Amino acid sequence: MSCALVLGSAKSKPFAAEKKIGIIMHQRASALDRALFNNVLGVEPGTTGKEILDSGREQLKSCYPHVVQIEKEKVTSVLKTAEGFEVQTNKNNYSCAIVVVAVGPSNLFNIEGLNQYVQPHPNLPAAKQRIRLKNVDHLVDDNLYVAGVLAGWRSQFAMAAGSGAHVATDILTLWNNGAPAMVHDSVPKE
Ligand SMILES: Cc1cc2nc3c(=O)[nH]c(=O)nc-3n(C[C@H](O)[C@H](O)[C@H](O)COP(=O)(O)OP(=O)(O)OC[C@H]3O[C@@H](n4cnc5c(N)ncnc54)[C@H](O)[C@@H]3O)c2cc1C
Repeated sequence: MSCALVLGSAKSKPFAAEKKIGIIMHQRASALDRALFNNVLGVEPGTTGKEILDSGREQLKSCYPHVVQIEKEKVTSVLKTAEGFEVQTNKNNYSCAIVVVAVGPSNLFNIEGLNQYVQPHPNLPAAKQRIRLKNVDHLVDDNLYVAGVLAGWRSQFAMAAGSGAHVATDILTLWNNGAPAMVHDSVPKE
């Protein structure tokens, strides 16, 4: 969601204006389901992960309605095609040029086309048997990114969300023909 928010916020940039952005909002097995946050900068202490799942979805919808939220679908395969990728869910197929995978580090990971990148997670306790997708600075393969704990980060909310934002700026930079791109809103000058 963090990645989708930053991508959505670039709508006013000419290089992003015509891009189609979608997020598959499957949330039946999020680490946020049971989390309680007191130690995240900018998040009111006592906020639950469930509240963030709801407010994040609302924030995306109200601020960046052009980002398509696909509900209640689970990704089963991500296959390379001549044009990019074919993403298959339990209900539909989608064609896209760029894919960001952010499904968490569960060792039950099983997405056809991505299983070849699975490695033991290098930064979580070995006993938990968590995994990451092999990547260099979030890039798994051409136009295929990984974000969140699945990228190899330790499990802290700010790190997972920051990782998504990082991938978004990599994609914006790509869309901007390699010129570094970010999106900053600012308070109007008085
Ligand atoms: C009990 C608990 C307490 C925590 N407390 C804190 C804390 O106090 N402070 C802190 O900083 N961090 C805390 N964390 C850690 C924090 O919640 C995680 O680091 C963060 O949520 C990880 O984000 P993520 O995007 O990598 O994964 P998740 O938040 O797990 O998101 C993964 C998403 O992928 C979806 N998904 C999975 N498979 C598929 C599929 N095949 N197709 C489509 N979607 C799929 C899931 O439904 C989920 O929505 C806590 C975690 C837990 C479990």
